[in-house]
Amino acid sequence: MIINRRSFNRSVLTAALAGPLIRSSRAKAADTADVVVIGAGLSGLNAAWMLSEAGLDVVVLEGSARIGGRVWTAHDSENTPELGASQVGPSYARVLDAIDRLGLEMVDEDRPIMPFTYHLGGQLIRAKDWADHPVNKTVGAERKLSPVQMGGGLIAKFNPMKELDDWLRPDFAKYDVSVGDMLAGNGVSPAAMAMVGLTTEMRNTSALSLMQEGLRGAFEAKFSSAQSELIGGALVTKSTGEKAAGAAPSAKWPKNFKGGASAFPQAMAKQLKRPVMTSKLVAAIHMNDDGADVRCMDGSSVRAKFVIAAVPFSVLRLIEITPALDGVHHDAIHNIGYAETARAFCTIKQPFWQQDGLDPSLFTDTPLRMLWVLDNHSGAPNAPTKGPFMATFVITWGAAERVSQMAPEEAAKLLVAEVERLRPAAKGQIVVNRFHSWARQPLQRGCRHSFKPGQIAAFAVDMIKPWQRLHVAGEHTRRLDYGMESAMESGERAAVEILNRI
Ligand SMILES: Cc1cc2nc3c(=O)[nH]c(=O)nc-3n(C[C@H](O)[C@H](O)[C@H](O)COP(=O)(O)OP(=O)(O)OC[C@H]3O[C@@H](n4cnc5c(N)ncnc54)[C@H](O)[C@@H]3O)c2cc1C
Repeated sequence: MIINRRSFNRSVLTAALAGPLIRSSRAKAADTADVVVIGAGLSGLNAAWMLSEAGLDVVVLEGSARIGGRVWTAHDSENTPELGASQVGPSYARVLDAIDRLGLEMVDEDRPIMPFTYHLGGQLIRAKDWADHPVNKTVGAERKLSPVQMGGGLIAKFNPMKELDDWLRPDFAKYDVSVGDMLAGNGVSPAAMAMVGLTTEMRNTSALSLMQEGLRGAFEAKFSSAQSELIGGALVTKSTGEKAAGAAPSAKWPKNFKGGASAFPQAMAKQLKRPVMTSKLVAAIHMNDDGADVRCMDGSSVRAKFVIAAVPFSVLRLIEITPALDGVHHDAIHNIGYAETARAFCTIKQPFWQQDGLDPSLFTDTPLRMLWVLDNHSGAPNAPTKGPFMATFVITWGAAERVSQMAPEEAAKLLVAEVERLRPAAKGQIVVNRFHSWARQPLQRGCRHSFKPGQIAAFAVDMIKPWQRLHVAGEHTRRLDYGMESAMESGERAAVEILNRI
């Protein structure tokens, strides 16, 4: 069922499917193409790359001036933070295959998140004291789960899924309820639920969607020589010293792109026969029996046989589409939920944890939620020499939306002031280099899709089916994978759909 790196041979796939339609590259007028791909994120680029390799004439229209979407290395900020994706997991078959083919280099992630101190119920608590601390009102086995791991741990405990695509089966629709209802139904204590609510939108998130991600994370860990789990959207690796069957003996995961993750979409774009057209914000898609016109805000348009919308549904809903969408397509595109992640990237002047004797990172029930302090050097053999300690405020869901209402500099000030209030030793030691809200990005409007309760059962299966000549791709249309791999998976599916229609 799962295409892995060994079994996946993309050139065989495209050649077999494209077969007779592979033609020599024809000179085409600038305003016509076989396929228009809207969006130069990983999903759109992967679809365009496959179709282009199959001999089709492909135009990619990107609304912003930048290629990569949610892959964005901020070369213009101190310490070059990754505003979006950076971590590559060992089971990312398509990403790893593309890295090989593009000749890109990976480096071991060199800056693991340092251990957490908690500030909960108005008290600073060391991780080792949590299980027996009076502020910990959770019950039974819950008491042993750390506050940071509470959500992931409880979802794993009640997760009935065995296969990565179980979530699409009708008999799993009963788990398409809110995380809150699922946990309450399983007898989870109110205190543990409150803890989960610090990092998850409990009432507005489908438990089934988080179960699928949890299972995908467990699958990832099986490939790795270390135990990994998702915390706040990051693959956090905790070395166990054990070697997982099948993993390369010295493999250390996750890995990062040498020179920054943006190198990946940029290298993919270079593979295309026609350069990505940037600053082409698509406003309308008009389809008829012969083809589709894709119109941009600047008045230009491209006519093609097929269109792939590789943009989040949060922005696809702003594009005028005729014939008008109906049924599941309308419901999914207009109603699917999106989550917010806000991050503030910082440099630490002096390691304040050496002053207060607590663990460096912080997890709180105050507005700052999480401060990840990143080690300045993991000691990996191919790692760069020691640099400054860095830190990232990681705020998700409603807490992130609240802080993102503020101007970026005000939000940054608030977050620093909060750490200084909770840990006076941090006073003057944290400098925010960049505050970034994904919900504020006009061409994303959120960091990722998030099914609301009932939405998987209502439209997850059918929403990815083509609407006339319009195909959809993007992480929100994933079936098995997550993160960058899911964007690649979806682009591949959309490309294959079109190759099957020509
Ligand atoms: C904070 C954060 C951290 C992450 N960390 C990781 C990680 O470490 N590892 C991992 O594997 N994944 C990670 N991810 C997930 C990963 O970044 C995404 O799954 C993936 O990049 C999504 O690609 P996409 O093509 O679906 O969408 P996008 O990258 O959003 O691409 C959509 C593109 O469409 C363009 N567009 C939108 N509207 C229009 C329009 N009207 N006209 C023309 N163009 C338009 C946008 O500008 C954009 O370029 C992270 C994501 C975030 C937000």
